[in-house]
Amino acid sequence: MLVTLKENLINAEKGNFAIGQFNAPTLESARAAIEAAEELNAPVILAHAEVHEEIVPIDIIGPVMVAMAKKASVPVTVHLDHGTSFEMIQKAIDIGFSSVMIDASHMDYEENIEMVQKVVKYAHERNVSVEAELGMMTSSGLGGEETITGNQEASEDLYTDPIIAKDFVKRTDIDALAASFGTVHGIYRSEPNLDFDRLEAIHENIERPVVMHGGSGLSNDDYIRTINAGVRKINYYSYAAQAGALAVKEYIKNNDPIFYHDLTVEAKNAIKENYKRAICVFLNKNK
Ligand SMILES: [Zn+2]
Repeated sequence: MLVTLKENLINAEKGNFAIGQFNAPTLESARAAIEAAEELNAPVILAHAEVHEEIVPIDIIGPVMVAMAKKASVPVTVHLDHGTSFEMIQKAIDIGFSSVMIDASHMDYEENIEMVQKVVKYAHERNVSVEAELGMMTSSGLGGEETITGNQEASEDLYTDPIIAKDFVKRTDIDALAASFGTVHGIYRSEPNLDFDRLEAIHENIERPVVMHGGSGLSNDDYIRTINAGVRKINYYSYAAQAGALAVKEYIKNNDPIFYHDLTVEAKNAIKENYKRAICVFLNKNK
C-alpha cells in the first residue's frame, strides 16, 4: 500500500528501526526493492532521484512506481530524492508521490528555510511528507552523483550543527531531516568515520526522524549504531547497483549466446538479494 513518509517513519521511530530508501532508475531496481520488502514483510521507500532524470524521467517511471506501491502487500512510500526546484516537487506530487525531498542545502540558511517552508505548505496541504537537508553531503565521485555539492571526502565543516538543526526543524515543520555526520554518496574510497555524538544530539534536538544519505557500504555495526542514535531512513543504493552490474558481468562471461532480457533478470535478482541483506540489518531485531 502507498503510505506517506511520515506514516512509515512514525512506526520506525516507535520500533527503533530504520527503513531503506532504494532508488528506482530502472524497472529492475524498482521491482527488486518491492520484492525484497514483500519477502521480508518490511516497509520500504522507493525513490526517484532527480539526477536520474536522464536515465528515466519521472513522467515515465513515476506512475509505475506509484502503481507498484499501491499494489504492494507492505507499506511503500514513493519519494522524490534531492528535488532541486519547486516545479519538480509539484510534478512529483501531481504524479502521486507520497513524499518529497527538497534539497536547498547549498543556499544560505534563511533562503534554505524559505524554500523549505514553501514546499512544506504545498506538500502538507496535499498530505505529502517533506524531507529537507541541512549541512552538506558530498559524493565520493564513484557513483552517487545525486548531490549537487561536488565530489570530495566528508568534511566536518559541512556537518549538520545540532543547535541550528533544532531551529531549522521548528521553523519549517519538515517530517524528516537529512543530516550530515560523515557519510558520502557513492562507493567509499576509505572507511567512513561517523560522528555518532553529533547524530544523537541532532535527533534529540529535532525530535523528528533523521535521514542518512550515502547509506550503502557501511559496516553492520555502524548501521546499528546509527539506528540506535536516531536514524530512521537509510538512503541505500550504490552498493546494490554495483552488485547488479557484477552479476550481469559474470553472466556475460559464462553464457553464449546472451539475450538482453536475461541480463535484466540477473540484475534484478542480485539487487534484490543485496536489498534483503540490508533490510534485515535495518530492522534492528537484536536491539
Ligand atoms: Zn542523498
